[in-house]
Amino acid sequence: MNIFHSLESEVRSYCRSWPVVFDRAEGSWLYAENGRKYLDFFAGAGALNYGHNNPVLKQALLDYLAADRVIHSLDMHTAAKREFLEKFEEFVLGPRGLDYKVQFPGPTGTNSVESALKLARKVTGRESVINFTNAFHGMTLGALSVSGDSMKRGGAGIPLVHATPMPYDNYFDRRYPDFLYFERLLSDSGSGLNKPAAVIVESVQGEGGINVARFEWLAGLADLCRKHEILLIVDDVQMGCGRTGPFFSFEPAEITPDIVCLSKSIGGYGLPMALTLVRPHLDVWEPGEHNGTFRGNNASFVTAAAALDTYWADDRLEKSTLAKGEQIEAVLESIAGNVPGVLPRGRGLARGLAFADPAVAGQVAAAAFERRLLVETSGPSGEVVKLMPPLTITDEDLEDGLTRFADAVLVCTAV
Ligand code: PMP
Repeated sequence: MNIFHSLESEVRSYCRSWPVVFDRAEGSWLYAENGRKYLDFFAGAGALNYGHNNPVLKQALLDYLAADRVIHSLDMHTAAKREFLEKFEEFVLGPRGLDYKVQFPGPTGTNSVESALKLARKVTGRESVINFTNAFHGMTLGALSVSGDSMKRGGAGIPLVHATPMPYDNYFDRRYPDFLYFERLLSDSGSGLNKPAAVIVESVQGEGGINVARFEWLAGLADLCRKHEILLIVDDVQMGCGRTGPFFSFEPAEITPDIVCLSKSIGGYGLPMALTLVRPHLDVWEPGEHNGTFRGNNASFVTAAAALDTYWADDRLEKSTLAKGEQIEAVLESIAGNVPGVLPRGRGLARGLAFADPAVAGQVAAAAFERRLLVETSGPSGEVVKLMPPLTITDEDLEDGLTRFADAVLVCTAV
């Protein structure tokens, strides 16, 4: 029995699928202690969009550390935070014409979601929130209450209330007009639906199985929210920071959410950080009404600012993400042409291959690991194999990974 088995909680999960001890990492590669190297199509579940130990971000961090600059500061003013905010305005908000106040919640996605839900309730004076089938928003109680996965919800140990699920785009295979049920409930005074404070939505559901909402569906949702004076929260924790191409995944839908949740890759280097973006008139917090000891993680501010400077001053990363996404799509389409019952999904570099039998998806992920490729499964039954390489992956590594993946599918589906 090694120390992981004897001491670490049973709650551990990824290490069960990938039973090696990782030690070093560079770009799109993870190196295990046993000398094996693994191509990473998982990218820290979206926290490593710029790859492992990105050299530009690393240098900025090393310089900051070497000069004994402030690391921990709660929400005090620091030079590192100022620089991050300036870059965020210059490269992200300004060019997109977005007017948001920036809240720093605790440094995880679920903290951002909690703050968004609390603020929506405070602003509107209402309690209930609309979420969507197969959503995932985090593991703290508020975020879990708007998440779909029944196993994870069960872990709460108390009733999860004040959330009403609605069908996500394509839930009924487009057999019904968009929002037929939701719109009817909102306009019928006998429906029993409490008027919601907010709707929370992912534009692509990562954990839910790479379910992509159409842009017109998102635009329709934004219209519906406006019409009924419901706040629109977009959870861009996993799909933001360029994962689908543009910095925010909702940009092509031409919507402006009232609140946006960001985390994962916003820190740039895999360091913990989260933001909640709030339209200025909604920023009604009292000082300290929502707080957290690690809001001022300056190491993250430094690598976050360096990432914005390096990758978001122009549209090169966005274009290359879209091009690489199409490269993956072509391979997934060709697999689908040869293997009956599999379905490619995704946008940008958030891709997935859905299998009719979840067991086969699991076997494919295991076969990929044997071929030294890291991919995880997602979806309510784990039926979707998820392909999320770093956005900075080289063409050569991308092709290499896709070859390993196609081979893994082939061995698991050959009759
Ligand atoms: N929202 C979304 C869309 C996510 O994908 C995740 C994490 N997978 C979270 C929220 C929660 O983030 P964290 O694990 O950092 O709390």
